[in-house]
Amino acid sequence: MLRVAVVGSGPSGVYAAKELVEQREVPGVRVDVLDRLPAPYGLVRYGVAPDHEKIKSLQGNLRGVLEDERIRFLGNVEVGGEALPTGRLLELYHAVVYCVGAARDRHLGIPGEELAGVHSATAFVNWYSAHPDAVGEDFGLPRVRSAVVIGAGNVAVDVTRILARGEAELRPTDMPQPALGALAVSGVREVAMVARRGPAQGKFTTKELRELGTLPGVAVTLDPAELTLDPAYADPAGAAGLPAVNRRNVEVLRGWAEAAQPPAGAPADSDAERRIALRFFLRPVELLGDSGGAVRAVRLERTLPDGRGGVTGTGTYEEIGAQLVLRSVGYRGVALPGLPFDPARGTVPHAAGRVLRDGRASVGEYVAGWIKRGPTGVIGTNRPCAKETASSLLQDAGALAARDLPDDPLPAMRAAGLHPVEWPGWLGIEEAEAALGASLGRHSVKIPDWPGLLAAAGAPAPMSGP
Ligand code: NAP
Repeated sequence: MLRVAVVGSGPSGVYAAKELVEQREVPGVRVDVLDRLPAPYGLVRYGVAPDHEKIKSLQGNLRGVLEDERIRFLGNVEVGGEALPTGRLLELYHAVVYCVGAARDRHLGIPGEELAGVHSATAFVNWYSAHPDAVGEDFGLPRVRSAVVIGAGNVAVDVTRILARGEAELRPTDMPQPALGALAVSGVREVAMVARRGPAQGKFTTKELRELGTLPGVAVTLDPAELTLDPAYADPAGAAGLPAVNRRNVEVLRGWAEAAQPPAGAPADSDAERRIALRFFLRPVELLGDSGGAVRAVRLERTLPDGRGGVTGTGTYEEIGAQLVLRSVGYRGVALPGLPFDPARGTVPHAAGRVLRDGRASVGEYVAGWIKRGPTGVIGTNRPCAKETASSLLQDAGALAARDLPDDPLPAMRAAGLHPVEWPGWLGIEEAEAALGASLGRHSVKIPDWPGLLAAAGAPAPMSGP
């Protein structure tokens, strides 16, 4: 039997586990999927926006994998800490596949990032997704009239949309009650989503962009003069070499800018309760504060395309007033103690998923997902990525299985002071979330704190917080 630990129960981890048990070349592979959190599914539970029910429903597929009898979920197990260092894990399993994602947000590196009211989009996403490390976050929403979201990827679109949506639309989702309550009394009327490059370089996907034009009571505004700075804007279909998604994005933006009427279902600008302004060719240079140390505006420099896909500054500046600024400029991988790390790329060096130590494949150590290739792609991108890693591992199976291991690693983990949450514990969390939702007159509602999650899972409470 080949015993494998997969660290991380997000899509890349679950797809890696599936690939390992469903192949036929190496019989008898058993996989434990470990996660720091007591709940599985990684960014599908704690990243996909609550109003994206269709993407969320992928949890059903991931669940089917984790319920396979050859796979065991062990939540509430932190790898890389004192109780379970990476080296110890390799003593308990023939092989370890790290699928730990890219947990940290990137910074802008401009003055004013420390001002009150300036947050990462990740913190905001974690809060409305009930990530237990984000419990008690406060974005001061009742006091905010104008928000600025910096960046033009799908996360920027997600946080822009959630800020613009009304409580009635979010109530049917599993958004935790404190976040729903805070959004219900939000004072936000204007959200500016600001890209440093042009409409043809937006990183968002077209479906997500289009959705902004369908939000009840929300008007999307664009400045045609700004859009036409992009050479691809005049003729996106003819713009040589523009990938299909970028071409479609430009077409949607053109359609909105040129329409005499707002998009079907959207209110006229004057009737809108909230407005989303999509801004382009503006790069943030400073976050400006008031006398109390809170952000009051973002200072941006007008940029122009440089003809090579980048932009140059023009020396012309503009301020957009904001009491809340969310930087949404991408994620970054975090080094796991004991594992090699490339700080420039924010990933673990690897060859076809085999971890490289000093340029050589390290026996028994593998990576998949964002920690392997960086924070790019949609959920489905993890399938081929996990498949490549699993096939490397299976090619090594002969050498890996030669090593004698102790029996089940679970007693060793418990002896180290860990309290793994197994599948029935997770089902306990699901039941408690359904009961919480019923008590609030909602569907299932997520539990947002560590003690609540652990109690529902039947695990002991944390001694002094995680
Ligand atoms: P992303 O797609 O990499 O977008 C990052 C954005 O930040 C880009 O517009 C980038 O502009 C901008 N940026 C970077 N540094 C900046 C700076 N210093 N100043 C101003 N702007 C800056 O990252 P993401 O939005 O975090 O998404 C991560 C991944 O998750 C993506 O693959 C995304 O598709 C995926 N995701 C998918 C969904 C979905 O399918 N619904 C939802 C959420 C996330 P430049 O292009 O100019 O660098």
